[in-house]
Amino acid sequence: TVATIGLSLIPVINKLHDILASSGTELSDISVPQVAVVGSQSSGKSSVLEALVGRDFLPRGCDICTRRPLVLMLENHSPNSDDDRIEWGEFRHLPGRRFYDFSQIRREIQAETEREAGCNKGVSEKQIRLKISSPNVLNMTLIDLPGITKVPVGDQPSDIEARIRRMIMAHINNENCIILAVSPANSDLATSDALQIAKLADPTGSRTVGVITKLDIMDRGTNACNFLLGKVVPLKLGYVGVVNRCQEDINKNRSIQEALAYEEQFFHDHPVLFISQIEFCLQGHLIPKLNQILEQHIRKDLPRLKAVLNSRMHAAMKELQTYGDVVESKAEQGAALLHILRRYCDDFSAMVDGKSPDMSTK
Ligand code: GDP
Ligand code: MG
Repeated sequence: TVATIGLSLIPVINKLHDILASSGTELSDISVPQVAVVGSQSSGKSSVLEALVGRDFLPRGCDICTRRPLVLMLENHSPNSDDDRIEWGEFRHLPGRRFYDFSQIRREIQAETEREAGCNKGVSEKQIRLKISSPNVLNMTLIDLPGITKVPVGDQPSDIEARIRRMIMAHINNENCIILAVSPANSDLATSDALQIAKLADPTGSRTVGVITKLDIMDRGTNACNFLLGKVVPLKLGYVGVVNRCQEDINKNRSIQEALAYEEQFFHDHPVLFISQIEFCLQGHLIPKLNQILEQHIRKDLPRLKAVLNSRMHAAMKELQTYGDVVESKAEQGAALLHILRRYCDDFSAMVDGKSPDMSTK
C-alpha cells in the first residue's frame, strides 16, 4: 500500500516527458529526477529497491547479482476492475510484451544481463530498462547499480573496481539524481563505500539519503542509534534504517509481505535501539520521504525547466516560420509541439508565480 500522494509534480513532469518523447524531441535537459542506489556489493541495494516496489523481481544474493545498471520506471495507474492482472513489467528491449509474472521478470533480467555481460560475473555499463506499471507504486525512476567490489573474480577485468566506480559516478553525477547510499549496519559507517562515493558526487549532501541495512545482524553490543541519528556521518536528508530478507529467507522463498511484517516486529522488539526514531526506521517511511525529496527537487528545478521550455518554443516557432504556408506533416508536428509547449509554459508560469498551486496532468 502506498501513502496518498495528493496532486504531485512528478506525474506532471512524467507527462511532459512523454509528450516530448512522442514528438521526437531531445530530452536531456528535461530529465525526470531519478533515485539511484549505491554501495558495496551485497550491502542490500537490490533488496531495498524491491521493498520500494513491493514485489519480488530482482536478482539478489551474496554474490555479484546486479551486473548491469537497471533503470526501473515506476508508473502508477488506477486499477481496472475488470482485469485482475493489474501489475506488469515491460522491458525496453522487448517492446509490447507485458510480463505479469514477476519471477519471469527476474529471469529476463538475468538472461539480458548474460547477453551483454556474459555468464561469469562480468559487468557491463549498458543499461537494462524496465517499466513497471502498477496501482501500488509512486511515479518515480529507480536505478539499481552494481556494487563496489575490490577483488576481480570470474571474468572480471583487473580494473573492476575502477570500472564499477565510473559506472556509478556516470549515474549519480547528474544533479537530478537522488542518491540512496546503502551501508550495512554490521560494518563501520565511517568506512562506508556508499557514503564515500555519494560524497564525491554530492559534496554538500543535498541529495543523499543514508540507508542502513542489516540492522538484524549488527555485532552484539553495538548500537545503530548513532548511525541513524547522523552522529557518525551527518547527512542533511538523514538516514532510514531497514531490515531486509536474509539469504536464508531468499532460499526459502519468504515473501516480501512476510519480510515487511518481520521488519515491523523487529523494530517493535528493539525499542531500546531505536527509541523515538522507530517511526523513521521502517522501509514504509522511505517511500513518502523519497517522494517529498523528489518533489522539492522538481520545485527547485522549475525556473530552469521553464527557461528550457521557452527556448524550445521559440526554436519551434522559428522552424515553423520557415515552412511558410505549406502545411506538411513536419510543420503540423511543429505546430502541435508549439501548442503543447505554450500550454505547459503558461501552466509553469502560473505555478512558479504562485497564481495556481498545481498543474493539470490531463
Ligand atoms: P546488493 O548486492 O547490494 O544488491 O545486495 P542484495 O540485495 O543482493 O543482498 C545481498 C545479501 O544480503 C542477500 O543475501 C540478502 O539476503 C542479504 N541482506 C540484504 N539486506 C539484509 C538485511 O537487512 N538483513 C539480513 N540479515 N540480510 C540482508
Ligand atoms: Mg544488487
